[in-house]
Amino acid sequence: MNYRHAYHAGNFADVVKHVVLARLVEYLKQKDKAFRVIDTHAGIGVYDLTSTEAQKTGEWRDGIGRLLDAALPPQARALLAPYLGSVQALNPEWVMSRYPGSPWLTRHLLRRQDRLTAIELHPQDADRLKACFKGDIQVRVIELDGWLALGAHLPPKEKRGLVLVDPPFELEGEFGRMTDGLARAWRRWPGGIYALWYPVKERTAVARFRDDLAALGIPKILDICLGTRAPSDEPRLDGCGMVVVNAPFTLEGELHILLPELKRILARDDGASWTLRWLA
Ligand code: SAM
Repeated sequence: MNYRHAYHAGNFADVVKHVVLARLVEYLKQKDKAFRVIDTHAGIGVYDLTSTEAQKTGEWRDGIGRLLDAALPPQARALLAPYLGSVQALNPEWVMSRYPGSPWLTRHLLRRQDRLTAIELHPQDADRLKACFKGDIQVRVIELDGWLALGAHLPPKEKRGLVLVDPPFELEGEFGRMTDGLARAWRRWPGGIYALWYPVKERTAVARFRDDLAALGIPKILDICLGTRAPSDEPRLDGCGMVVVNAPFTLEGELHILLPELKRILARDDGASWTLRWLA
């Protein structure tokens, strides 16, 4: 448990993940019926971009920093409005000093009837997350191994909602845990939406992950991938992806508008790329 998200908050990978997360939450809000979001690897909620960790890498400047500076066509701007609205809520003057992590972004978008379960295993991070939502009856923070939540916590009593799985990928076998966890979760709750974030660092591991997902027999798996630079054989973060199970019918069209813009804005060299395809 050495991973500290404070070094990476607001980077390009957070932008891709949080843009997709915000679109999924907005989709769920199209019906009045309450839903629940379960965030299995939640982090601390809000990240201080003036902290030593964030300053050391400066990663947010090539992520949310670039997006905020970019000119956007109207359709893309409208689709990004819920996400950017949550960033603005933490930075009212648009001087970036704080970045919303996935539980804070989700909570910002919820209606009165909706709920969030945020799970974090690191004891200090879990304490900070609890402090972040103290007194908020719509949010339940649990210090727990997020992989366990894919069993015991499903299905939620609302029977509508979304599970975000965003592990640190610091340990061997994270892709395998993700595939197994998804298979287990889907058996318990086939109607839930699942959003799984993954790094594009090792191309063979990513290819195997996609093949393993396609072989699960789960219908409707959408694979979203953004490469910010040409793929290399170095073990470096060249891009990231999100796998969405039970992807809403609206998502594909929205991503056809958003991904070209994100690629343009977040590109680190001429080899930047995006793909969107159904694995099953
Ligand atoms: N989802 C957050 C966001 O988008 O703002 C970022 C999460 S960060 C990539 C991964 C988090 O998972 C870290 O805070 C880490 O402490 C936590 N973590 C690591 N192993 C875990 C586990 N088995 N269960 C739950 N949380 C875990």
